[in-house]
Amino acid sequence: MLVTVTSERRRVILAEMNRLTRRPVVAGTLSQRSTRCAGAGCHCRADPPVLHGPYPTWSHQVNGRQVTTTLSAEEAEQLRPALAAHRRLRELVKELEALSSADFESRRASK
Ligand SMILES: [Zn+2]
Repeated sequence: MLVTVTSERRRVILAEMNRLTRRPVVAGTLSQRSTRCAGAGCHCRADPPVLHGPYPTWSHQVNGRQVTTTLSAEEAEQLRPALAAHRRLRELVKELEALSSADFESRRASK
């Protein structure tokens, strides 16, 4: 029965959300970036340039604006599971939305 499968899946999704939100949930992405400094005579401004890094960087939105923060390797490792939790939560929310829409549509159709 479709309704039973849907409510069972919903229960599993909510249980996973409950588990995920017991630990930090952080939006954004981690990447590696090479940078130039302000030093005029530095190798990062030579021809050809030898850039600093690569350093781990965290990019995320603050009030609709993209913010990029350079992290230590240790900070990046601390952040990694929180970013993964955020991605997974978004997937679960999308799935809940899809289930709810399907429920709504099938209830309308069976009237
Ligand atoms: Zn430099």
